[in-house]
This record gives sequence, structure tokens and C-alpha cells, in this order.
Amino acid sequence: MALEDQINKALAKFGKLGEHGHRDDLLWYDIDRSEPLTKEDLTTIETTLKADGVFAKLINSGSSLDKKTGKEIQKIWLTAFASENKLIAWKKEFELKKKSDHRFIGEQLDWFHVQEDIVAPGMALFHPKGMRIRRKLIDLIREVNDDLESEEVWTPHMAKIELWKMSGHYEHYKDKMFIWEQDGQEWGLKAMNCPFHIQIYRFKPKSYRDLPLRYAEFGTDYRKEQSGELHGLSRVWCFTMDDHHFMVTPEQIESEVLRIMKACFGVYDIFGFKPEVKLATMPDDAMGDAKLWKKAENALEGALKKANIDFTLKEKDGAFYGPKIDIYVKDSMGRKWQLTTIQVDFFMPDNFKMSYVDANNKAQMPVMIHFAILGSVERFMSVIIEHWGGKLPLWLAPVQVKVLPISDAQITYAEKLVAELKKSKIYVELDSDGTLGKRIRTAETEKVPAIVVVGEKEVQANKVNVRGKGDLSLEDFLAKVRKANLERTAF
Ligand SMILES: [Zn+2]
Repeated sequence: MALEDQINKALAKFGKLGEHGHRDDLLWYDIDRSEPLTKEDLTTIETTLKADGVFAKLINSGSSLDKKTGKEIQKIWLTAFASENKLIAWKKEFELKKKSDHRFIGEQLDWFHVQEDIVAPGMALFHPKGMRIRRKLIDLIREVNDDLESEEVWTPHMAKIELWKMSGHYEHYKDKMFIWEQDGQEWGLKAMNCPFHIQIYRFKPKSYRDLPLRYAEFGTDYRKEQSGELHGLSRVWCFTMDDHHFMVTPEQIESEVLRIMKACFGVYDIFGFKPEVKLATMPDDAMGDAKLWKKAENALEGALKKANIDFTLKEKDGAFYGPKIDIYVKDSMGRKWQLTTIQVDFFMPDNFKMSYVDANNKAQMPVMIHFAILGSVERFMSVIIEHWGGKLPLWLAPVQVKVLPISDAQITYAEKLVAELKKSKIYVELDSDGTLGKRIRTAETEKVPAIVVVGEKEVQANKVNVRGKGDLSLEDFLAKVRKANLERTAF
């Protein structure tokens, strides 16, 4: 009997089998029964499968709504092999993967999840703790935007198809867009933010005195990747870019790109990333004036040199609508990620007939610079979660401090400490439930950066004991936490 038939035969003992499928190396089965699988059912699934010659590990179980009948059905996730050795090898690999895979870390620590059954594939739901991380990244970029004088705007998540036809996305990008018809009008879900920002630019006539004009948006975009390519937060259908569009004169490209590069490098520094920079120049199928191309390429090169940044040249590798700078970073596992692209664009300003009047009162076309520092917030989160194996630095951790009183006698002292930390907007939790050893292990599993133990000795001396750091006076500890949080430095 084939493995699949053996599994079907064994699982049928728990109820009528509905649909089944797989996500990566995990199999899922729908079981048509309204009452949940009992604890006993769940403990016997593996042995029942084994009796039918299947070596399996039950990964998860739950219920969901049947799309057709609207009835509740049971769902189980498992992995199954025809030999015990294969299962043992899989378990070993699974444990290793779990430690660094952002999808497992995100679910284990209750940060986010993707729910295909009644939500959507490739669209993550952020739980309160995941949202804390997300907010801190966005707060960081908001500060950078202020320094860059890039003004935040907001634009809607969909637009009439006419916008996407004008931008060229309908013609070149239609397959990746969510498009539908409603009340005789065709609509497109936002796949990029640029066309909207251009409408803001065009709302009033512009003069050379208005430039550079800088727009920023945490813009949520929707792109239909192949569902087989979807992966946690790193390949998704829905993501939020820390997107920027600078409208500049050709003469302003160099100084603006220099400012952008400085801002990007400042952000990479915070994460300890060493960037690698590539300059991509005019391809054979380029559009636009060759003189303008040369000017833009020289400006990009000039900015890199002025910023003292080493780069390699990728000849003829620019987009057909302008030269670009690609920035890659390496994570702790040596994997290379492309985070930022600084894209000069002559195409969209032309498509949308953007203009400004120059000092001689003549109409000119601005150049657009597109860039995002993190890229997509979701993808950036997946990179840093794996880079640090989930152990985020104090400033970014969703629970920054956990206070563990040794006994009830120290609860008042512990509560006072929690209140102090909360005043400084530190995410802090007090855990007084269970043995100290168990509470320490829980805090370690939750990857809390500052685990603080307080016993009678600490109360008497007005001190705290920080795991891995020893005794600190209460004052020192508070100052250290506040500094690391505020300056985004190591604790
Ligand atoms: Zn853009």
C-alpha cells in the first residue's frame, strides 16, 4: 500500500476524511467531525499510524470552518514517513530549523501567523507582541524620515484601473496584481505606492523652488506571488514598504542620493549589518535621453564616492527606466539579502507628464528617486529574526524586561521596579507564578533580553540580579535599560 493510502486508512479511524494537502514538508488533513479531537485521540494518532506502518509526528491540531458547508471541521498537521529512521532524521532537522526559522519563532512566541484556511495565503496577522516589534521598526524609520525631511503621506489600498494603466503597471505587471470588476468599473489593489505619490505631486503646479520634494509612506502593497513561493514573512502577498519618492532636478540627484546613502548606512549600523553596494548602469533596452542617463549615473557614482562607500559596478544592469544602487547585507548565517534599492526613474515622470517650471519659466520634467530603507517591514523582520535566532536586542524585543521575585515577600519591590520601567515605556512583565527555575526557563524560551531576579538580599541592598550580568544597583539597572532602549544600543 502506498504511504498516502496507509495514512488515509489510519486517520479514517478518527472520522471521515475531507480535503488534505501539504505546506512545505507538513501534511494537513481535514477530518469531518464537529466535536474536537479529544486529548486521547491526539495522543493515539501517532500510535494508530504506526500500527498501519506509518512513522509520523503530529505537529498541530485545530478546527476550522469548511468553506463549502460552513460547518466546523477538525484539522491536523503531521509529517509521515515509511521508515522510522527517516522520521528520526526529520525530527533532528526539524528541531534545528525551528531554532532559527522566523515562521516557527513567530508562532512559538505568539508574534504573528499566516492563516490560509479562512484568511489568505501570504498575508500575515500580527499579534500584539509582533506588532510591538513592527512599531519599533516603523518608529526608527520615522525618525530617519524626519532627518531626511521626507514628509509622510497616506494613500489608499486600491485605485481605478486607469491609474495602473497610466503607470504602466497594467501592461507590465498585471499578472502580479489583484484586479477585479465591481459595478462596471475595473479596480486594482495597490501593488506600488509611486502612482499615488505622483498624484499628490501633480495636485498643484510646481516650481524649481519646490524641489527636492520628498514623500514617504508606510505603504501596504499587494502582489500575487506564486503560492508555492510564499514563505512566512519573507515572500508574501501583502507587505508594508517604508517607501520614499523624491522628486528632484537632475542637478539634485547627487546631493539627495548622498543623504539617502547616509541614512541607509545609519540604519544598517544599528543592526550590525555590513552592506555591499552595487551601481547598475544603462542597459541596452534603456528608455530616455542618453545624456540624462550619463548625468544620473555620474551623480550616483559621485554620491557613493563622497560618502566614501566602496562599490562594484554592474554595467548595463540598470532598470530600463533608470540607473540604480543596490544594497545587500549579510546576516549572521552568511546569507545575503537585498534590502535597499535606490532607483532613479525617468519613466514614470514622463508617463504621468510630471513637470515643474525652472528659473527661466520653462517647463521641465523632474527625476524621481524611489527607495525604501528596510524594503518591506515584513521581510526585514524575517531577516532580523533569523539573524538573531529570535533573540532580539533589548530596544527591539517585545518583552524587554521580566522581573522574577524569588518569593511573595519581594512582590512589592518587584512591582515598584515594574512601575519604574513602565514610566520609561519599557515593555516589562512580572512573573511570580511557579518555581524560580521554571520561571527563568520560560523567560529564556521567550528570549527576554533582561531577566531580573529579586530576592531578600536584593531588596535589602536596593539591587537587582540580572541573568548573565550579575548584581546591579537599582539605579544603574534602570539607567542601563533606558539608555539601551533609547539609543538602540546593546544592553
Ligand atoms: Zn516607487
